[in-house]
Formats: sequence, structure tokens, C-alpha cells
Amino acid sequence: MTHQTTFESTRAALLRGSTTAEAVTAGYLAAIEKGKHLNAFLSLFHDRALARAREIDAKIAGGHAGKLAGMVVAVKDVICMKGERVTCGSRILQNFVSPYDATVIGRLLSEDAILIGKTNMDEFAMGSSTENSAFGPVLNPVDETRVPGGSSGGSCVAVAAGMAHTALGTDTGGSIRQPASFCGIVGLKPTYGRVSRYGLVALSSSFDQIGPFANSVADAARLLEVIAGHDENDSTSARVPVPRYLDALDKNVAGVNVGVPFDVLREGVQPEVREAVEKVLDHLRSGGAIVREISMPHFRYTISAYYILMTAEASSNLARYDGARYGYRSQKAKDLVETYVRSRSEGFGEETKRRIMLGTYVLSAGYYDAYYRKAQKVRRLIQKDFFDAFQAVDCIVMPTAPTTAFLVGEKVDDPLQMYLSDVYTVSANLAGVPAISVPAGQDRVGLPIGVQFIGKQFDEQTILKVADYEHSR
Ligand code: GLN
Repeated sequence: MTHQTTFESTRAALLRGSTTAEAVTAGYLAAIEKGKHLNAFLSLFHDRALARAREIDAKIAGGHAGKLAGMVVAVKDVICMKGERVTCGSRILQNFVSPYDATVIGRLLSEDAILIGKTNMDEFAMGSSTENSAFGPVLNPVDETRVPGGSSGGSCVAVAAGMAHTALGTDTGGSIRQPASFCGIVGLKPTYGRVSRYGLVALSSSFDQIGPFANSVADAARLLEVIAGHDENDSTSARVPVPRYLDALDKNVAGVNVGVPFDVLREGVQPEVREAVEKVLDHLRSGGAIVREISMPHFRYTISAYYILMTAEASSNLARYDGARYGYRSQKAKDLVETYVRSRSEGFGEETKRRIMLGTYVLSAGYYDAYYRKAQKVRRLIQKDFFDAFQAVDCIVMPTAPTTAFLVGEKVDDPLQMYLSDVYTVSANLAGVPAISVPAGQDRVGLPIGVQFIGKQFDEQTILKVADYEHSR
């Protein structure tokens, strides 16, 4: 594994004058070159990143640098940057160049972050292993025979393999938290509506959120503070004030009420993962937190509800790739209908097609009530489970994933097994609540285990605080 650095330590060195943003950026570019075979990046901003680093060095010297001055950030290739390709890991958008910047990109730039490149991902963010990319799989830097998790595998590996301080990922059903857990880093999915989705290519609009990968909870907090907040270009972004997240990290969990749905930990969990949760609970108790059991009566329906609703929304969002408006157009087509059919058949990969078919099916007349409407009702009940639990507790602890990283190729031919690896992550997206995954030890063969803390809507502070306490164990 390569060297991981926190932005906190780089920041201190920059302020002391013992390094420069240019040197830091050059170091990351060298690490990216060295780790090329991991396939984490789809495009690199080599010269531009260095030029920007020099500008930022001048700002630091002049004492007017922004909050993220010198932070090197990798960006999942589903987020638009003006003048850059945004492939979404798909052949259909292989040569598509974005005409504008996503809101999160504008915010990072205005606080002097350095963007280093765009990262590999499962096609349109559908997947749990980053094996569904049209540009080849990403490998886990801890063990290169294993997947890094998905769909934000490239962003996660960029941070885990020391190729950037932090990275932006997106989490629709776990795509930030599950890879963070598989690679041993921190990954945060904010509350739905906390971060603007303007300029994020939509997968499932009522679930998607952009969030940070980092090597420390403090770095994740710092990045979140910059990207969070209302945006007039996204009507689902909330008008809720953004707190100073770093202030929440006081390493004091005395009196915090922590809920654990022990029921959902009894089956299908790798024993070492369950032991890791137990250890986290002991550590929290030793810090004065109060651990109590909670029940989540509708938990066993979460995967079914998620895969009905997300495919329905995805099938609708992906209808715009028709060979006429965006991206790839088949050269073989002779008329309009053939243009649609051939462009989509040739441009989309297997998993994307599977989900478009599933989604169109659950939305079709005759099946809408039986599947889509029913799943929406279940979503409501799952939201209620969380609401009820949060009457008694401040946050909920669960594993991030039922197992540690699986082998490359192990689940690609078995979509159901692949979907089941999301069992602990999708509930937070169904309910729209924030959740963070932090490293919590390793299994017998040294693979990282992640534990997640789920919080109340717009209460990222509590989970950041608890996660920070746990991460500094
Ligand atoms: N693994 C989940 C899926 O395949 C989550 C994807 C995501 O969060 N983008 O849908």
C-alpha cells in the first residue's frame, strides 16, 4: 500500500512553509503514475493541477488562501467539470464534454482545492465492485486480487492508495460507504438535500448524494463544510444552515445515545465483521456513550424496495441517452428507431441494460401498483423505522457491508449476490439520512472492515463526532 496523508498534516506543513502545494501535487501525480495498474483514474489534469498549485502557493504566501488551499481532490467521473469529459464509466458518454461546472466543483475551486483528475466508476454508478465500468475494473490497493467496492471505486482507491488527499464520490445506495469500508478509509454520505446535485449526472434522483472520501474524519468534515448548503440551481437542496463541522470533533462521546439493531446482525454477516461492531460498541461504552438495542421492523425489505425504486428512477433518467442528444450514436442505424435501439444497445453495458429493463417493468401499466407503488409505501415504513428509532437514540451503528472485499470476478455473474452486498447501506438512502463509514479493524487475512454510523436528517455533526472518536481508537 502506498502512503496515505491527511490534509490536516499537509495543511500544517504548508502553513509552516516546509512544503509547497506544487511539491504535494507533484508527489500525488507520481503516485498516480506508479499505481496506474489500479485503474483508478479516467482522466488526469497534470499540467493544469501543477499550474494551479503554483497559484495557490502564491496565495498562501500572500496570506489570502481559501479553506482548502492545497487540498488535492479527485472527482468521480459522474460530476461535471467545464470543458472536461464526463464519461460516467460508460461507452455512451465516452466522448461527451461537459459545458458547465457542477456546483460542488465551483465551491471546491473557490476555496482553493486542487483538482487532480476524474475517477473510474461503475457505469452510471450502478454496482458494488467497480467491475461494471466500460473502461475496465479498478483494483483494491490492499489486495489487488480483490474489488475496491463500488460504484465510486476509483475515487476511493485514489484516496486509499495515496493519490489524492480526498475525493468526491456519490452514494445512491452505498457507493461511498461500501468502498470506503473495503479499502479502509473514511466515506460520508450526507443527508439527502445537504449537497447540491446540480451538475451531477443523475442515476436515481431521490437517492443520489455527493460526499467525501478521506483518510480522516476531520478531512471529510472540512470538505463537507465547503460543498454543503443550499443552491438555487437544485430545488432539492435544503435551506438548512451549514454548521462548522470541525467544531463537532471533540472526541467526547459521554452521554451520546447509540442504537444497535442487533436483530439485523444475526444472519449473513461475516463473523469478524460482527466482532468488529462489538469492539466499537465496547469502545463507545468506555467513553461514556449509552448503547441500547433498537428495532427496525422493516429492515428486511430494504434491498427489495431499493432495487425497485432505484431501477425505476434510473430507467427514466437514462432515457435521455438516445443517440440524438447526448454522446454515442450508432453508425449502423438507418432510421430514427434504429438510431435509438442501436445506439443504446451498443452504448450501454450489461448491468445498465438489466436495470433499465427492471425499471421499465416496475413502472409499466399493470405492474406499477404491484411493484413501484408498493415499494414507495415500504420506503415510507423504513423512514418511520428510523424516525421511531431516533426518538430514543442520537445515532445508529451497523456494519457498512456484510463482508470484507470480495475477489475480482467473484460476483459479476450473480447480480443478486452483488445486490445483497448493499444490505446495510441502502436503508440510509431510502430514508434520506446521513451515514459515515470508518475503518474498524481487519479480518483474519488483513482486509479492512468498516463500521457505519447513521444519523438524524441534517445532523451530520453527531455522526462525525462519533466516527472521529472511533477512528482515533
Ligand atoms: N451498489 C448500489 C447499486 O448498485 C449502490 C450504487 C450507488 O450508490 N451509486 O445500486
